[in-house]
Amino acid sequence: MTKKKNDGNRMDKRFRWVLALLAVAFIAVVVRLLIICVFNGNRYSQTALSQSEQSVTTISAKRGDITDRNGVQLATSNVTYNLILDPKVILSNADKYLEPTVSLIEECFGLSASDLTATINEQSERSYVVLTKNLSYNEVEDFIEKKSEDSSVAGVWLEETYQRNYNFSTLACSVLGFMGEGKGIYGLEYEYDEELTGTDGREYTYVNSDNVLETERIDAVNGYKIQTTIDYNIQSIVENKIKEFMETTESKTVACIIQNPNTGEIYAMADSDDFDCNKPWDLSLHYTAEESAAMTAEEKTDALSEVWKNFCITESYEPGSTYKPFTMAAGFEENAISLSDTYYCSGSKEFQDDTVKCHNTSGHGTLTTKQALAESCNVALMDMAEKIGAANFCKYQSKFGFGQYTGIDLPNEMNCKYLLYNEDNMTEIDLATNSFGQNFNLTMIQLSTAFCSLINGGYYYKPYIVNAIYNDDGELVQSVDKTLVSRTISEDTSDTLKEALRLVVTEGTGDYAAIDGYVIAGKTGTGEKAGREDGKYLVSFIGFAPYDSPEVVCYVVIDEPESGDEHGVSSTLFNMIMSEVLPYMNIKTADQDYDPEAQENITTEETQEAEEAADTDEDGSGDDGAQEEEAGGDEEENDGEEGED
Ligand SMILES: [Zn+2]
Repeated sequence: MTKKKNDGNRMDKRFRWVLALLAVAFIAVVVRLLIICVFNGNRYSQTALSQSEQSVTTISAKRGDITDRNGVQLATSNVTYNLILDPKVILSNADKYLEPTVSLIEECFGLSASDLTATINEQSERSYVVLTKNLSYNEVEDFIEKKSEDSSVAGVWLEETYQRNYNFSTLACSVLGFMGEGKGIYGLEYEYDEELTGTDGREYTYVNSDNVLETERIDAVNGYKIQTTIDYNIQSIVENKIKEFMETTESKTVACIIQNPNTGEIYAMADSDDFDCNKPWDLSLHYTAEESAAMTAEEKTDALSEVWKNFCITESYEPGSTYKPFTMAAGFEENAISLSDTYYCSGSKEFQDDTVKCHNTSGHGTLTTKQALAESCNVALMDMAEKIGAANFCKYQSKFGFGQYTGIDLPNEMNCKYLLYNEDNMTEIDLATNSFGQNFNLTMIQLSTAFCSLINGGYYYKPYIVNAIYNDDGELVQSVDKTLVSRTISEDTSDTLKEALRLVVTEGTGDYAAIDGYVIAGKTGTGEKAGREDGKYLVSFIGFAPYDSPEVVCYVVIDEPESGDEHGVSSTLFNMIMSEVLPYMNIKTADQDYDPEAQENITTEETQEAEEAADTDEDGSGDDGAQEEEAGGDEEENDGEEGED
């Protein structure tokens, strides 16, 4: 009968992947719609204007800047000018206006007088003909002066408009997003489009009954400035290290979130599929000119979706062992497990008709509860999950926000609701594999945010990326503070988990994450991706510092590294990033009122007993686990439910 269960399990898995694919297809449709809007939108607005009886000039509102948390300008709008011709006005008194107007345009902009005269006659009923776009102030200065001196120049004017500039091109691209025809269509530009846009003004020019030109003006109200939680320096460090890493270790995608665990705010968010916000349609960062030219429209849409996608919030995947602390937290909270427990790992766990392996297939032997996490033992985690039970396991998945939107203020957050089991459809094997982060999906932002609550005393704060909103005069319009969504676990459980996570770095699988002078704790993760026969992995590390009062969480994910399941690559990338972030943030070092030696020796009486019991075990305590870190590989007898760290 278990065979049947497994088939059902596979069906569920396939169903969930279909949902995941549908989500990706949905993004592709959105991208296509954007292409249509951007390339065709212009024509419609101009037609509307040409039918107007009078000449209406839009006075563009300046779009608000986007800055980092310290005011570093990430996106800004610079004035440019469009040269507009109004044949109707010129021909209303051709004897007076035609020749001087055409001459001045020829003189200042080098356009041919005869061509201009032809245009005026051909389009005699129109009031809005664009002659040249995006001129700088230098290019129009002379014209403005001369026009003001000559009252017989009429029916030509400059339309002020703004060009969006992203000062650091690719920096924070999937967070900032970009613009299309005056509207934000991706990222923060989209999410905060209303606030950033402002209200355009109008200038009405008409010929009154005495045949005299009259003008009425309503000024524009400029858009608001958005101050993000992003730190330019941290974001730069993350992006540079991702680039450096990609140069040495070929991987499909590398992504990183750096978050403040005490507020939920995002300091940095990046992935390796970057683009230049100034040229979002340009694929040259990832494809050669020949490759781009050879693409069909559909292939180009797919490539753009991939490049624009914010991996940290839009991609879902199986987390692997970074989920283990959450399973343990549920166990402590429900009193299903305790520090004095011991677990015995023979290398696999038997179920009625199935065997699920530990990544250490020769077995970890006897482990204490903390050692189970440090050695990332799948068998111990499956034993814990059995004690916790499906109902409580699912309850805590929900408490930690998995399967739900985090509500971060960015568009396209992935819906993972159907990528999790619930109490009713979770089989014994599902519970077992879920306990070590396999067989369900989540997003980076979900895991990072939930992890913050795990180590900050149990406070789940909504993640956010905009700190404050200012008007054009620099007055504060809205300030955003941390939002406590719920309590996930108790302070005691949080403290216990921190101790166990510290052990991962000092004695367990996370040794590469250790940074001289700092007290780091965290958890490694390796997950084999769906379609397990492909042998593609997603490896990760989530860690924090300082250990005793966490100020920063860093989560790195490496999707399909060329090195396969080698867990050390993720903690190495974590190390590369945090070695620069921690000094920049002035994070307390080990010698500042903290003694790591003393801390490591702090164990409760219960743990001590358990450790003594574990140490007397013939198999040893598994302290050689770091070397033995190896995913089980494809095991024929257990339907791919093999252990992974
Ligand atoms: Zn084990």
